[in-house]
Amino acid sequence: MNDDNSRDLYDRALSVMPGGVNSAVRAAIEPYPFFVQKGDAGHVIDADGNRYIDWVMGLGPLLLGHSLPDQVQAAIQQQASAGPMYGTPTEVEVDLAEFVVRHVPSVEKIRFVNSGTEATVSAVRLARGHTGRNKIVVMQGGYHGAQESTLVEGNAENPAPSSAGIPQSFAEHTLPVPFNDEDAMREVFEEHGDDIAAVLTEPILANYGIVHPEDGYHEFLRELTNEHGSLLIFDEVITGFRVGGLGCAQSEFGITPDLTTFGKVIGGGFPVGAIGGRAEIIDDFAPAGDVFQAGTFSGHPVTMAAGLETLQFAAENDVYGHVNGLGERLRSGLTDIVADQAPSYTVTGTDSMFKVIFTRDGPGKDSLEEQCAAGCRQNPTCPRYDYCPKNAAGVKNAETDRWRRVFWGQMKAQDVFLSQNQFECQFVSYGHTDEDVERTLEAYKHAL
Ligand SMILES: *Cc1c(COP(=O)(O)O)cnc(C)c1O
Repeated sequence: MNDDNSRDLYDRALSVMPGGVNSAVRAAIEPYPFFVQKGDAGHVIDADGNRYIDWVMGLGPLLLGHSLPDQVQAAIQQQASAGPMYGTPTEVEVDLAEFVVRHVPSVEKIRFVNSGTEATVSAVRLARGHTGRNKIVVMQGGYHGAQESTLVEGNAENPAPSSAGIPQSFAEHTLPVPFNDEDAMREVFEEHGDDIAAVLTEPILANYGIVHPEDGYHEFLRELTNEHGSLLIFDEVITGFRVGGLGCAQSEFGITPDLTTFGKVIGGGFPVGAIGGRAEIIDDFAPAGDVFQAGTFSGHPVTMAAGLETLQFAAENDVYGHVNGLGERLRSGLTDIVADQAPSYTVTGTDSMFKVIFTRDGPGKDSLEEQCAAGCRQNPTCPRYDYCPKNAAGVKNAETDRWRRVFWGQMKAQDVFLSQNQFECQFVSYGHTDEDVERTLEAYKHAL
């Protein structure tokens, strides 16, 4: 496989961009990332003309794949040719807001911003402003964007910044606990309950694993936060309009969070974020309320058009049936391959998300019959239950070097593009086909 052009581009990039990239995770590919020339349905073609089956899909936004349906394409082009933006409202913002409010019951009002990071920054400020409290509980290993309040590691007793440039005094307002651990969460609320503004969590840890919640965990979070007057914020930047169809993951779990952050899919492939929730809380945002929030590009007409047409297309066509069906086939195919070739590994994911976690221990090859059939559901009767990751520590303990240094390259050599490391999730799009799934399963068979 020739990659001269990518190498030359990376060489140039290293001179003018830190690490040669504009987002840290992109440099994780070794020895250097391939540069993309263009996308085509479920594939990408790199700067040297190599074609890959793409399961990264922009790290989540591309629900429809790289080839946008005509009506989506037309709406974007029409909006762009009317002049990119104005600094004054447009109809398409109202249309997309109405669409979200109609489909996501917990969302009565919404504010659009420009990235998932901006959404979680604003949601945390809103939660603090609304409750008059300072502290935020997050899940260890959870990712909520590149922002001060959530780039925090350690535990609730000893939180510490996970990046240079963040004062320890900021980190002290963030309390990391293990996902799926009710005792740890109860303890934090016993100690700090009166000063906890919100629990901020992904409904499914999709940036670290993927890790599915145990049965009843979200109900527990809902009850505990209610009891203490804290808000429950679901970060649905990945799961929103991906898991649970147009109702999002919260509808799948039957949970009503106070606030929800959106990003990725809701912008149809353009930069986007949003904060939705109960009107009484969202109305605390300026100018209705006193929590300041603003943005030159917020509600950008081209993004709004792309998001609206994407979601409308999904509402009118069998997009979720297609992507979830292929996701199911991938996960159940992988479950069979793993049982045969690497029985200690765990297949995870739901709907159109999938991943194989290189867990080190499993229940012996002969006892796998009753296991979760198409992605870990934390089912207590599954023979894998005692071994499958329940939180970040479980994923971190997997063979992350083997995944990245050995396995990833073997998949790429077979023209299959997987996410850059063991931790990030992979996505099925409307552009993917049965053949993409079959070829990918064959590649796993060779690489595992
Ligand atoms: C991607 C992501 C973010 C950050 O979104 P950006 O658009 O990259 O700023 C926040 N939360 C979750 C759950 C994400 O997956």
